[in-house]
Amino acid sequence: MKNFTELGIDDTILKALSSLGFDKPTPVQEKVIPLILEKQVDLVSLAQTGTGKTAAFGIPLIQRTAADKRYPQGLVLCPTRELCVQVARDLESFARFIPKLKVLAVYGGARIDQQMNSLRKGVQIVVATPGRLKDLLNRKAIDLSRVNYAVFDEADEMLQMGFQDELKTILEYTPKEKNTLLFSATMPKEVARIAAKYMNNPVELTIGTKNAGAENVRHEFYMVHPRSRYLALKRIVDNSPNNYSIIFCRTRRETNDVAHKLIVDGYNADALHGDLSQAQRDQVMGKFRCKNIQILVATDVAARGLDVNDLTHVINYNLPDEPAAYTHRSGRTGRAGRKGISIVIIASSEQYKLRQIEKKIKKQFIQCKIPTGMEICQKQLVSQIDSVTSVSVDHDQIAPLYDEIAEKLSHLSREDLIKQFVSLEFNRFLDYYKNAPDLNVSSHTRVKSGRPERGKRDVRRDVHPNNKFTTFSINVGRRQGIVPQGLIGKINEIQDVGRIKIGRIDILRNSATLEADSRYTAQILGAFQHAEINGKTVNIEVAKSGASIKKYRGKRKGTFHRKGRKPQSV
Ligand code: AMP
Repeated sequence: MKNFTELGIDDTILKALSSLGFDKPTPVQEKVIPLILEKQVDLVSLAQTGTGKTAAFGIPLIQRTAADKRYPQGLVLCPTRELCVQVARDLESFARFIPKLKVLAVYGGARIDQQMNSLRKGVQIVVATPGRLKDLLNRKAIDLSRVNYAVFDEADEMLQMGFQDELKTILEYTPKEKNTLLFSATMPKEVARIAAKYMNNPVELTIGTKNAGAENVRHEFYMVHPRSRYLALKRIVDNSPNNYSIIFCRTRRETNDVAHKLIVDGYNADALHGDLSQAQRDQVMGKFRCKNIQILVATDVAARGLDVNDLTHVINYNLPDEPAAYTHRSGRTGRAGRKGISIVIIASSEQYKLRQIEKKIKKQFIQCKIPTGMEICQKQLVSQIDSVTSVSVDHDQIAPLYDEIAEKLSHLSREDLIKQFVSLEFNRFLDYYKNAPDLNVSSHTRVKSGRPERGKRDVRRDVHPNNKFTTFSINVGRRQGIVPQGLIGKINEIQDVGRIKIGRIDILRNSATLEADSRYTAQILGAFQHAEINGKTVNIEVAKSGASIKKYRGKRKGTFHRKGRKPQSV
């Protein structure tokens, strides 16, 4: 492994790196920095968040910028305002000994007139979100005609958020002769297409495995009934007393619900999502960064720019629609060489989603058991004792009070004193977890397909022999990528009704029928109505009596998106 001094970096930047405590380059820095400094190349780099990629493109970008010329020479595009601010802050810190070099973050949600003012004063590096930059270009407030370096940071995220058109327009304002650097945690086809279209024979550098999860992250899953999801979450949190975590939810509403319940239950938690104003988001993130908040409940988009290095856990309260989003979530832990744990809470019907993610991250999930109440109490007790023994005692301050304290406690034996003392904090756990039920669901309850395995009977029918079923017909089928697990998963997501019995499922080319407990007809209609599956809006209705249920033969997999709940809309 090389040192920073061997990579061709100028002394002023080396000084800044050492003041930041950067001793050795990370693998992506070791590869990218000399490459960009030596040659005029385009680069596609697959690097996870937390690998040090900002310095990898930022250091050469700063070194190649003429600080005495007061027009934009470097452009960095980021998917979110938080990331934008973060990257600009990092670049400023690498350039802290180059006083004339100005870095400006321009992003939506902040006053455009102030950004235009700063641009007029002269900046050399602009870090921007695509929407705001396009706006500034339309107002002729920024000149990109002399940009030497264009960087796409988290390109996969930008494309997933639907910024294709903005990127195209922005690039038209930049000169043809420039270096384009593209960083992406995953390499979906759209990113490869952008690279092919806008880059000139790019060098491809992969740090770690393509589309892989962060190296230091252990991936665990817990299987529960959907209605026990929140209780399971609490147990997982309680079982690691000093955790510092992000809990990812799929929607703003779920984020608010979970955060609210945690706060009411006495946890040091808060919510971060797109409904908050920029000032509120900054406040929540500030509190989380300095650990005034221990648990942050967030949507994918809101948490993107959050740069926190010592998270102990990432908890997926619900899995994201896209496996690639899991890579981003889990990459929030295990950063800067630390170890991290990414936890997934799933229903048995969602196991196929785990397999999809495993393929993507090329790692296996380890199944863990939701701890029992007693196990959690033991963990909490040990942690409490540890904090007592490690607390530093201010003997001088206590000395004048000691006699009075000793007198008050004199009637207690050593054993009683220990018990009293421990009970102070511990009673609430004991109370809460007394008679706590087992929340684990065995993987054997998994239903592998709509059709019983050869020689076996239909488990779901056996469990509920006297059940009255309603048959529902749905206007999507195999062609839209529907599989029985998806339909079962959707029904299992219905809250507050217990387990809904499901009968036979039949998936045809363009439609599907399913049988389910008649008592929940309204809830089932509600759960599917307005849902969007692989781009098609679902229409569900109660099938006319006599509608036939044929054998399921479909093999392809489908992903559900509730309308208005796509990742980019959170
Ligand atoms: P990034 O992937 O650019 O978001 O960086 C992740 C974190 O690692 C940031 O907090 C950086 O400050 C930190 N970092 C980046 N490079 C180094 C390095 N060479 N030594 C120590 N920390 C680093």
